[in-house]
Amino acid sequence: MSFSFIKPQLAKQQELNLYRSRKELDKGAGRLLVHQGKQYINFSSNDYLGLNQHCDIKSAFKKGIEQYGCGSGSSSLVTGYSKAHQELEELIADWLEAPKCLLFSTGFSANSGVLSALGQSTNTGYFLDKLSHASLIDGAFNSKAKSKRFKHNNCEQLNDMLSSSDCNDKLIIAEGVYSMDGDTGNLSSINNLALKHQANLYIDDAHGVGVLGKEGQGTLEQQNIEKGSHLIQMITFGKALATQGAAVTGSAEFIDYLVNRCRDYIYSTAMPPANAVATITSIKLCQSEHWRREKISKLTCLFKSQLDNSIEITDSQSSIIGILTGSEENALYCQLQLKNKGFWLTAIRPPTVEIGKSRLRVTLSASHNDKDIIELADCINEVIGKCLQNK
Ligand code: PMP
Repeated sequence: MSFSFIKPQLAKQQELNLYRSRKELDKGAGRLLVHQGKQYINFSSNDYLGLNQHCDIKSAFKKGIEQYGCGSGSSSLVTGYSKAHQELEELIADWLEAPKCLLFSTGFSANSGVLSALGQSTNTGYFLDKLSHASLIDGAFNSKAKSKRFKHNNCEQLNDMLSSSDCNDKLIIAEGVYSMDGDTGNLSSINNLALKHQANLYIDDAHGVGVLGKEGQGTLEQQNIEKGSHLIQMITFGKALATQGAAVTGSAEFIDYLVNRCRDYIYSTAMPPANAVATITSIKLCQSEHWRREKISKLTCLFKSQLDNSIEITDSQSSIIGILTGSEENALYCQLQLKNKGFWLTAIRPPTVEIGKSRLRVTLSASHNDKDIIELADCINEVIGKCLQNK
């Protein structure tokens, strides 16, 4: 292959401590993972509710495979849409109190697909939070809409942008829980601005669903946001719900529009029906097993209380906590030290976060126990303490 930029770009990433590589796990995703024969406590998974190894979800998957086979066989508009997909859509619409729901195979394709389907002309204005996920940024900036980004959670700037916009159709794009800092979107004020400026509102709640809200309905429910017809909610299944895929909810007309005009939906193989069967089971567990959310809150408080005052953390309101290390080099060093002590955490570096804001991203799960948390906090105090002293 002869693309002139590949070799220098990879070399540059190495030089800047920004090179990325994958780790082939022997076993993973739940509380424990095994890499090269060694077991680690996993603090990097988004399996917030600890459902990854749940036997009911596993048997639902197997039952789904028996009934429908391994995959869906085609896109939804051909023969890929099954009763299982329909049942899951209805369950989600009911759970999230939304008129209609549409399934996507990944959250990335839901975000980029919906934003390209809605952004068909320069008469549409998109207003995105600065910390929006890459899939939202790609969807918005690759569309024909006029896209602008407001400072994170800054409603004053958002208000100014909306006031000065001459677009006929406006869409504010924000998240329920921000995945790298663990803070929540200021959804109540953002929703008020949407109503004031007759704008629509798109909330990506990939990290809020399952964890927040009385029955895990997510950040909108937790913040008591009334479900108006201007609202679009996106949730993913690959995190708290422990399966794979995503759903978008909204008015019946909007969902019908996506079925007819969203290229990512129309031209992509539907998710395996067995995955839909398993997700139905996982949502029902999420709705009824409140103890999982309560446990996450308790573990989060315990973790924060065990950290030394010198440890700088993100302003988190969830079970995602960023331990700030400053440089990329520090983040990689701390990641390795913690790994040597049996803890698996991932160093998060630019471009995922700003330069100088590298961190270890800790995600706590209902599958962890008090001992895991106390031992992790002790190790972080020691490793980060030493790292800061040496600087
Ligand atoms: N939105 C947010 C906020 C995310 O964190 C992610 C996953 N990292 C996605 C969307 C994409 O979801 P999926 O992994 O299902 O593609």
